[in-house]
Amino acid sequence: MKRIALPLSLLIVVLWAVLQPAEILSFSAPFLTMRKALTLLTGALALGLMGFSMLLALRPAWLERSLGGLDKLFKVHKWAGISAVLLVVTHWLLILSPRTLAEWGWIEKIIRPNRPHGAGGESLVGLAKEMGEWSAWIMIVLGIVALLRFVPYGWFRKLHKGFPIAFLIGAFHSVILVPKEILTTPFGMLNVVIALVGSVIAVQSLAGMIGRNRKHSGRVSSVSVTEAGIIDLQVTPSTDWPGHKEGQFALLTLDRKEGPHPFTIASDWKPGAPLRFAIKPLGDYTRTLAGRVKVGDAITVEGPYGRFDFGDVSEEQVWVAGGIGIAPFLARLESLAASGGAQGKVHFFYSVTSAAEATFPVGLEDLCWRAGVDLHLRVDAIDGQFDSGEIGQFVNKARGVWFCGPAGWARILQTALQQNHGLLPGRFHREVFEFR
Ligand SMILES: Cc1cc2nc3c(=O)[nH]c(=O)nc-3n(C[C@H](O)[C@H](O)[C@H](O)COP(=O)(O)OP(=O)(O)OC[C@H]3O[C@@H](n4cnc5c(N)ncnc54)[C@H](O)[C@@H]3O)c2cc1C
Repeated sequence: MKRIALPLSLLIVVLWAVLQPAEILSFSAPFLTMRKALTLLTGALALGLMGFSMLLALRPAWLERSLGGLDKLFKVHKWAGISAVLLVVTHWLLILSPRTLAEWGWIEKIIRPNRPHGAGGESLVGLAKEMGEWSAWIMIVLGIVALLRFVPYGWFRKLHKGFPIAFLIGAFHSVILVPKEILTTPFGMLNVVIALVGSVIAVQSLAGMIGRNRKHSGRVSSVSVTEAGIIDLQVTPSTDWPGHKEGQFALLTLDRKEGPHPFTIASDWKPGAPLRFAIKPLGDYTRTLAGRVKVGDAITVEGPYGRFDFGDVSEEQVWVAGGIGIAPFLARLESLAASGGAQGKVHFFYSVTSAAEATFPVGLEDLCWRAGVDLHLRVDAIDGQFDSGEIGQFVNKARGVWFCGPAGWARILQTALQQNHGLLPGRFHREVFEFR
């Protein structure tokens, strides 16, 4: 948010402020005058943040890079979206306020003089006002749905398509209703630019074009299911697969109706080699996947995405994986094993819930040995979970900690390592298996 949304919001506020008389900026103007000015400001800020959310939804590589990975980008997208919904509600309450306050007898009933609006005639203005309410309702309802965790992801994703529609309506509402004399000012023109750019992205999103230039076809080349039910999937990508770095993930689509799901690429990149994915049955789609996916199936692989970057092989590092969170480390282990092993000391703490889960992946001990990585494997059901002290003893010399696993454990461990074991802020690198 800090990098784009904040400067953009500040720019909108400054461009709005230069248009306002002192009594507005000192909040000493009469209620209706204040309301008109603040309606304009909140509307522009809402459109600005909706536009920024649309830009994030486009997931451009430069933005993913600067935000530290797609999982972090979606987090910013979420908060930009929540802020936009709150601004739309404020904007709407400001619009409704006179009628409400007059009904409460707090202010005189208002007789509205006709005045020229943005680009449109009276009928267009009327339509734009009405459509503004539609857009607000769509934003509010979808905003609430997006936050309700019990809504299955599949529904969440389908309903999310309502936001580009809300943006298109909001853009029309904004351009038509910005007063004509303001439309040609830098404030007005910025609004128009955001409305246009956001609308182009909204149309791309509704047409399913987002991520298209990062989609690659592929075929399932092998499938096996471990004792613990983990699907060990190998995919042969088309020759235009650009390669990937250890720790990156891809959006896999095996079933167009179901849409893409993110899975980490659990293998190092070698031209012509298959991509490996380790999939744990965690929900309604993955629980039934083992019974449906078979060798030869067509698959779309979008990516690579993610910035879970392992940095320099000469560094001393601490890795912590919980359950299926081992996926990003497998790719790194393969790469280290293929390049003569880690030069810096690497301590790898791998925690699994059951002995069955510890059977994945086969040959882990040997792979760690060839990669020059010290493996500390723990079956929680038998030996209890690692405590932060066991991990912390290696942190003070380490360049950082790379973590992939349950969110709750991540929070507890990060706090303990920073408070009790001298882990510097920003040295706890985390891959979040969660977009929502
Ligand atoms: C960056 C990243 C890397 C991941 N890597 C792996 C991996 O290597 N192996 C693995 O087993 N799992 C991985 N996951 C998790 C995996 O994507 C989800 O478990 C899977 O999508 C669940 O789908 P479902 O329909 O079975 O579950 P649901 O019951 O629908 O959802 C379970 C959880 O998964 C999330 N989820 C569901 N569908 C999607 C989707 N299409 N996109 C994003 N999140 C979704 C939901 O937020 C929900 O919290 C990763 C997730 C992310 C974000």
